[in-house]
Amino acid sequence: MSDLAHDILLLGGTTEASALARALAERGMKARFSYAGRVDTPRPQPLPTRVGGFGGAEGLARYLADEGITHLVDATHPFAARMSANAVAAARMAGIPLLALTRPPWSAEAGDRWQDAPDIAAAVAALAGPPRRVMLALGRMHLADFAAQPQHHYLLRLVDPPSAPVPLPDHHAVIDRGPFDVDGDTELLRRHRIDLVVCKNAGGEGARAKLVAARKLGLPVLMVQRPAQPARAEAHDVDAALGWLQRTAARCATAGGGAHAASPDTERGV
Ligand code: NAP
Repeated sequence: MSDLAHDILLLGGTTEASALARALAERGMKARFSYAGRVDTPRPQPLPTRVGGFGGAEGLARYLADEGITHLVDATHPFAARMSANAVAAARMAGIPLLALTRPPWSAEAGDRWQDAPDIAAAVAALAGPPRRVMLALGRMHLADFAAQPQHHYLLRLVDPPSAPVPLPDHHAVIDRGPFDVDGDTELLRRHRIDLVVCKNAGGEGARAKLVAARKLGLPVLMVQRPAQPARAEAHDVDAALGWLQRTAARCATAGGGAHAASPDTERGV
């Protein structure tokens, strides 16, 4: 694939973003990678990498224009709703095509004991009641919300050691970074005598192991549903994303106006 028509900004922070970064680098395509800067040591990427917010949708639109970005790919986490909304608005402002690299949500299988929570607040409310031993597999961002249910023992799995005191009186933090496997997660749940798993419906393979482990052990799972996302073109794997990049570049070239001539609204449902 020629890289002449591309200067791609890839918004990352997921396994899928890293896979696409590798594919772009292998093809010698001109692209750069962006991290929010949430973890202390982000995975190194084979692309030039920047770290930190852009300053809202306007800031991102300015960055796209100033840097001559031709294609924006949003491969952020399905719960990174603000970034994804900003990406849609900024691509529109800058007049460049946007693709979201997304993963389908998990769905319950035979043997699963899932209860859905529409959002974090609902998950917190659902924990009212007697003390339990809860695996809180939500990352560090929402820990403070669960301080409203201090009666439980919480098992936390975090990428980095907490930088501030954890506001949960009875907790144990395991510092580990996925992907995780079923045997390891089964052993973790057993060792900590967990009786409930709370997690986000992230989808993908890297974090699925805890769900299979919970099924094996007959444990209930409180599953936080995804936030709504704006309509945008979506691809579910690296090959589909590469195909989209090729097609949009070709279309831009035939439109004679460079990549900026493509409209994100014409690319829905790749
Ligand atoms: P968010 O709430 O949607 O975004 C908050 C702000 O962080 C954005 O407005 C943006 O700041 C900045 N930001 C987010 N992603 C960025 C990126 N890739 N590059 C540059 N700036 C970025 O996002 P979040 O839920 O905090 O997630 C932050 C990052 O962690 C994302 O990259 C996401 O993929 C990753 N992540 C999130 C979760 C999760 O459960 N939310 C799980 C795993 C990984 P400005 O407005 O200043 O541009």
